[in-house]
Parts: sequence; C-alpha cells; structure tokens
Amino acid sequence: MTETAHATTPSLPGGEFLGHPKGLVICFFTEMWERFSYYGMRALLIFYLTQHFLFSDEIAAGIYGAYISLVYITPVIGGVVADRYLGPGKAVILGALLLVAGHSGMAIEGSQATEVIINGTSVVERDPFYLQIFYLSLAFVIMGVGFLKANISTLVGSMYERRDPRRDGAFTLFYMGINTGSFFGAIICGFLMQYYGFSWGFGAAGVGMLFGLLVFLRGQHLFGEATKPNHPEILKQPVLPGINREWWIYLLTLAGVLVFWQLMQYRAIVGGILAGSLIIMTFIVISYAFAKCEPHDRNRMIVALVLMSYQILFWSLFEQTGSSLNLMTDRNVDRLIFGFEIPAAAFQSVNAFFIITLAPLFSMLWIGLARRGWEPSTPTKFALSLIQLGLGFLFLVYGASIATDPTQVAVIWIVLLYLFHTTGELCISPVGLSMTTKLSAPKVVGMMMGCWFLASAAGNYVSGTIAAMTGSDTIAGEVTDPAAALANYTDVYTTAGWYSIAAGAIALLVVPLLRHFMHGIK
Ligand code: GLN
Repeated sequence: MTETAHATTPSLPGGEFLGHPKGLVICFFTEMWERFSYYGMRALLIFYLTQHFLFSDEIAAGIYGAYISLVYITPVIGGVVADRYLGPGKAVILGALLLVAGHSGMAIEGSQATEVIINGTSVVERDPFYLQIFYLSLAFVIMGVGFLKANISTLVGSMYERRDPRRDGAFTLFYMGINTGSFFGAIICGFLMQYYGFSWGFGAAGVGMLFGLLVFLRGQHLFGEATKPNHPEILKQPVLPGINREWWIYLLTLAGVLVFWQLMQYRAIVGGILAGSLIIMTFIVISYAFAKCEPHDRNRMIVALVLMSYQILFWSLFEQTGSSLNLMTDRNVDRLIFGFEIPAAAFQSVNAFFIITLAPLFSMLWIGLARRGWEPSTPTKFALSLIQLGLGFLFLVYGASIATDPTQVAVIWIVLLYLFHTTGELCISPVGLSMTTKLSAPKVVGMMMGCWFLASAAGNYVSGTIAAMTGSDTIAGEVTDPAAALANYTDVYTTAGWYSIAAGAIALLVVPLLRHFMHGIK
C-alpha cells in the first residue's frame, strides 16, 4: 500500500457517499445525536443544580466538574470491553441504551428544593428520593458515554486502511457531526427548559439519544465485520450457571452504574481516580507495546501516548470557554450589538458554529494538501493547534489592553479568540481521533481511544483549577471591581497564551523525532 493509497476496507458493503464509505454517515448521525443529548443536558445541568436543587455555586461546580471528568474516564472501560469481548457494535448499542435510560431519568424532575432561613442560617430541603434519581441518572450517562464515545470513534477509523489519506478528512467531518449535535442540543434543550421546564429539556436530550440508537441499528450493517467481536465464541462461554460471559458483562456494567452513582456523591476521590487511571493506563499501554507488538507498532503506540499528552495542556486552556471565559464575557465584554444585548451564554455556541462552518474547509484542505504531498504530519498539526490556542488568548489580552472601560472590551476580540481556538481544535481533536486509530495496534484500538479521552478528562479537570485562578470578589454574583477582575483574567490569559505558544514551539522541534518513530505513517 502506498502513501497515497485510496482504498476502503475491501469487505465494506454499501459503497460510498461523497467519496467516503457510507458507514461514515451512520457514525456522523449516531454521534451527532449522542452529542446533542450530552451537550443539551450539560447546558442545563449547572442551572438544574443551582436553581432546582438549590446547591451553592461551589457544590454545584463540584458536581458538574466530577461529572464532566467521569464521562471521559469511562471510555477506557468501554474501549477495553469492546476490544476484548463485545466488539464496537454491541458496545455502541449498550452505550446508547444506557444513555437513553440516563437522560430519561434526568427528566424525572420531582419537587423543587426549598430554602428557609432559620436563625440567620440557610437550610435547604431537597427530596432525597429525587436527588438519588438524579445521581443515578448521571451514573447511567457516565457509563453510557463510556461505551458509546470511544467505540463510535473507533468505527470511523475501521473503514479506512492505515495510510488512507481520507482518514483525517473523515474524522474532521465526523467532528462536524459532534458539533452539529452540540450546537442544536444546547439551543433546543435550553429553549425547552426556559419555556417549559427542566424535564422537557432533559427529556429532549433522551429523545435525541433514542434517534441516535435507531440510526445506528439501521445502519450498522454498513460496517461489515468491523462491528463484530474479535472472538464471538468467548461471549457465549458460561461464567456462572445460566449466565454466559456476554450477560455477565451486562450485569457488571449495571454494577458499574451503581459504583458511579455512589462516586457522584463522594466526589473528593474523583481527582485521585483520574490520576490513578492515568498512571495505570500508561503502564498498561507501555507494557502491551513492549510485550505484544512488533517494533514498528510498539514505537507507534509510544508516539500515540506522547501525542495524547498534548491534550492535557490543550483542553485545560481551551475549556476555559464554559467557565472563566464565560464569566469574563459576562463581566467585561461590550455585548451590545445594534442596540441588542447578547447574553454571555450565547457565546458558548460560537465555537460549535465555527467548527460546523470550518470543518468542511479543513477536511478539503487536508485532502488537497495530501494530493500535493504537502499535508502537515499529525505531530505538526498538534504543535500548530497549541500555537493557535495561545494566539487566541493573546488577541483577547490585546483587545482588553486597548479597552477604555473595563466592562467594554470589544466583542471582536472574544470572537477572534474563539476563531483561533476553533482552528486549533480542528488541528488536534479530530486529527487526534484519527491518529489514535492509525497508530494503535489493531487489537487495542478501543483501549487506546479510551486513553485518548482519558487525557481529555485530565485536561478538563485541570481547566477547573485554572479557572479558579481567575476568580474575583463578587457580591450576589456581581463583581465588585470590574477593572481588577479584567486584570485578573488578562494576567492568567497572558500566561496561558505564552505557555501554549512555547509548548507549541517545543512540539514543533520534536516533530522529526516523533515522525521517525511513526515509521511512515503521517
Ligand atoms: N468537543 C469534543 C466532543 O465532545 C471533544 C471533547 C474532548 O475530547 N474533550 O467530542
């Protein structure tokens, strides 16, 4: 197979659509609906916690943070179980069922918490039954994402030969599906919540996921053998009288849901679990690479691990979007456009909008450059993503420095930040999914995809710590000194910008070394 080979896996049924195997359409829409439900629900979550359950900001942030870390830790479990036992097809279906259950559970709203002040102290009463339903529903979602997300991404890669130049483009299109779901999820669920209540918003997320399940069930034949387990006979072996291994896996999955149900209530250990999982998975991947892989595959697996680690820095800064950048937009940006004040939260969809509009251009760009032999390698794209991320922050810092009023930073600078963050994201996130499928030894692609999301979980976790550094004094949610608040943001963002650019420059320097150990894969 040559570098420019253009071939799908020969056994794929269904033919092509727009130059890609038809299975890509199924992955696109399944993941679009999954992300619709994930981001739709996530958009309401902080309000549900603070306005329905009346948790303090601090506790609500803790629950939110634990949840968004755990959803990216479980793909390791989903990936390993699919590699060893279920295969990606059954794993995706299992994930989708758990997600439908989780999002439907979220729609059971129950009575709203009440707050009374007794002797000057606030006492909040929450119905413990509905609170438990809420935590249990989150646990179903956490486990469901674990089974679905890694494996639907693996399936995209399964349709292309290792050196097929369409692979990065395919993942960029797939990423467009992710963001289409995220864009509409936040808008539709947000709108339903605003006008009809939380259970409508969460219920819509559940209905969206049901559509995703139906799409996958209808289209799974398009992947040929790729959805099937590696060793179907192992699944049928009895483990206990009357229970074969497949059912045993489903029972253990439900037990896992119960564990996450408890973990959501003992959140202090989530950071420890994350750190432990990172160490254990690094050890497992390195051991597997040395024990089971021929030298080229071994080196590629190690390069994949190195590249995955870039994500920790990337997401830790990128994910300021939902936290510190959101608050900064609210407090310091002039959001009045043609006499209409745009709510700060609306800026949350700018990134998804740019992804949807720019992803096809990037997909075409990679294919066009590949045709001329000019496509940057994966390590180069990763380095460029860090540089773009840094530049985005520096644009905003510059914009803040020329504002004459600390509450009136011009909106163009925050939009420019999101533009650069989005082009950076397109150089790391879909490219990284693609990289994971091509550098991993074929038998452990699912596990490696899980590791990809694990690094992302670490980035999300660190982002909370960085956001906390930008905190300002507030009274009833309003900053007391906007100039001091802006100075805090610009301090942290200046450091973030330069660190990211420096990391990108170092990453550029090590490109030749990484490429050497990729042995001909770009
Ligand atoms: N926004 C992307 C998604 O939801 C990437 C998430 C991540 O890896 N942190 O799939």
